[in-house]
Formats: sequence, structure tokens, C-alpha cells
Amino acid sequence: MPRKQLVIVGGGIYGVGAVSAFLRNFNSSSISITLIEKRDDFIYLPINCRNLVEDMSSLIMPYDDLFKSYPAIGKVKKGLVIGFDRNAKIVNLESGESLKYDILVRIIS
Ligand SMILES: Cc1cc2nc3c(=O)[nH]c(=O)nc-3n(C[C@H](O)[C@H](O)[C@H](O)COP(=O)(O)OP(=O)(O)OC[C@H]3O[C@@H](n4cnc5c(N)ncnc54)[C@H](O)[C@@H]3O)c2cc1C
Repeated sequence: MPRKQLVIVGGGIYGVGAVSAFLRNFNSSSISITLIEKRDDFIYLPINCRNLVEDMSSLIMPYDDLFKSYPAIGKVKKGLVIGFDRNAKIVNLESGESLKYDILVRIIS
């Protein structure tokens, strides 16, 4: 059976959390994950945490590291999403590229 294409738009705390939840709860042979994010790095924002650490770099993670342990399951696509075609199940990027999905999670606050 072909793997379902899951596309998550937005790599904030909830987008990265969604990736983590899918990795924990789904069989790697059933799903393929693409996280689309316009930035290079994930930044953990809560102020409380920033007050607790001396080295701010510990709150920054390059998105390239997200699927390091799961290269066969997921990838991060850097780009700006400019639109969705819900009938065709397609996400459109500013670059002109389009990504097909079976399941879309949109978390761009
Ligand atoms: C400076 C700061 C301090 C904060 N401190 C606290 C705190 O102490 N406690 C607390 O509870 N909350 C705090 N917050 C709020 C908290 O960070 C947000 O509630 C939380 O980040 C929301 O997460 P999110 O994943 O929904 O959205 P976001 O963190 O906004 O993530 C959305 C992601 O989507 C990406 N994106 C957006 N549009 C597009 C697009 N068109 N194409 C591709 N990518 C896109 C963005 O680059 C971003 O990485 C703070 C926020 C900020 C800015």
C-alpha cells in the first residue's frame, strides 16, 4: 500500500510537536511526512525558558536536524506557502513548486 503523504505547514512549536506526535504514533511504512517552513531554524520562543538558559543557542535547532533519525520517513522543505488547492489536495509554494498531500496540517499562526 502506498504511504500516505502528510504535509505539515509551519514549523513552530505546534508544527514540530505534530511531527513528533506522528513519528511516535504512526508506523513508518504507512506515512511520509513533509514539514514546510520558511525559516532555516526552529526557535523555541517561551520567555520562561529563555530566562533559564545562559546560552540561547540551546533554544535554536536547525530544521535539518528534525528528521535526522528518521530520514526514510520525513523531510523539511524550506519555502513560503502562498496557497492551497483543497480540491486537488495541493500546497503551492512561492518558488512555483507544488506539493501533493493526502493529509494536511496547517499550523501557521
Ligand atoms: C518573542 C515571543 C515570546 C513568547 N513567549 C511566550 C511565553 O513565554 N509563553 C507562551 O506560552 N507563549 C509565548 N509566546 C507565544 C508562543 O511562542 C506561541 O504561542 C507559539 O509559538 C505558537 O506556536 P505555533 O506553532 O502555533 O506558531 P508559530 O510559532 O508562529 O510558528 C509558525 C511557523 O510557521 C512558519 N510560517 C508562517 N507562515 C508560513 C508560510 N506561509 N509558509 C511557510 N512557513 C510559514 C513560521 O516561520 C513559523 O516558524 C511567545 C511568542 C513570541 C514571538
